[in-house]
Amino acid sequence: MPPTANRKKYSDQLNSLLATARQSGVIPVGGWAELERTHGEEIYAEALYQLTRLEFAPPEAKEAWLGVLVHQDALRRKLARNVSLITAVCDYFLSVRPMVKEPILVELVMLRQSEEGALRDELTGLFNRRYLNQELPSEMERFRRFGHPFSVLMLDLDHFKQVNDTFGHLAGDQVLRDLAELLHQTARLYDRAVRYGGEEFLVVLPQVSREEAVAAAERIREAVAGHAFRFEGRDLEPITVSIGSATFPMDAMDSETLLSRADQALYQAKITRNAVAAYQDTNRRHPRFPLDIPVNVRGMGPEHKFLPGRVKNISFGGLLFETDGAAPPDGMLEVIIADPTRGARFFTLASVRRVEQDGENGFHLGLSFELSSPEEQKALMTLIEAHAEPRAA
Ligand code: GH3
Ligand code: MG
Ligand code: MG
Repeated sequence: MPPTANRKKYSDQLNSLLATARQSGVIPVGGWAELERTHGEEIYAEALYQLTRLEFAPPEAKEAWLGVLVHQDALRRKLARNVSLITAVCDYFLSVRPMVKEPILVELVMLRQSEEGALRDELTGLFNRRYLNQELPSEMERFRRFGHPFSVLMLDLDHFKQVNDTFGHLAGDQVLRDLAELLHQTARLYDRAVRYGGEEFLVVLPQVSREEAVAAAERIREAVAGHAFRFEGRDLEPITVSIGSATFPMDAMDSETLLSRADQALYQAKITRNAVAAYQDTNRRHPRFPLDIPVNVRGMGPEHKFLPGRVKNISFGGLLFETDGAAPPDGMLEVIIADPTRGARFFTLASVRRVEQDGENGFHLGLSFELSSPEEQKALMTLIEAHAEPRAA
């Protein structure tokens, strides 16, 4: 497992305790107890990860950690001299509780450099796809925990082959580096720019809605169009970029689909080039998920009764349901889908788009709604994840 945001949070504190241990041979007891109070047994897993890159579940990590300390003490007595923590760790996982076969000794700074380098693209210094494969799942996890949607932008330079053909491949490389710099300049602190392919880039925008993503893409597009690209003292011809955006979870609920939605939007932007397109502009607005669970709807106002039915499919913009009862009133409806076994409850106001009679006394109803708050979006996602198999839109 790669270092997660959660791990980074306290790894500074932890690293300073480990640094002290490196010098004195012992972990400062007070600092350690304090860290455990605030972060729990997770700190044992983190400490062992920092020292060995081995992965442990927290309770198992605590047991191993205590084993290391006991072993360190035993080695000290046997050798009648101080034994460092890292020596004890190494011997413990080689001999006492064998978990490594061929460890090597490497300076921490060197390890950090190569770990960091493994996630970077050499030409531009941007993140690479390996980083993206780690980053997208942790963004999705953040949505599950905190309800923040996020967006991705897929960028592709326009007529880039011509740049190479006219000015040479090295000029093309310089354009890619300039573009990386422009992405840095237009990005917010948490945005992450990735070199996705040759002249294709991806920007991950945490906590950014579909509308905000389009605005961010527009800023990038303008910055590129307004930039004077140069190579070896020569002005290159103006260069432009096309950008497609997609937003999680409204446009897709897994990373593969999300990227392909952004790519579809990019394809639309390429019709004119030097353009921005969001996935919703060009395709059906929301993917639909088949779902077969009870729903209750009623008209607004005290005189209306709840009308039970079953959901047939649902999206982040509407639902289709069937009922055996009377036709529901026109206009706005209250919709409640509750699933107590999974602790999911979804409530929204929806408007009736379509009513079809089904046989003698049943009805099919198409409703549409807008989910404005992350809480509503999260509630719906919980339901969908619990019940539905995503179907290709
Ligand atoms: P479009 O507007 O449709 O995107 O046209 P395009 O010419 O940009 O698209 P195409 O996919 O035909 O060409 C992409 C070019 O990008 C081809 C390849 O030579 C160039 N390219 C890809 N990676 C690099 C790189 O690392 N350096 C340089 N200089 N060129 C690259
Ligand atoms: Mg391309
Ligand atoms: Mg291109």
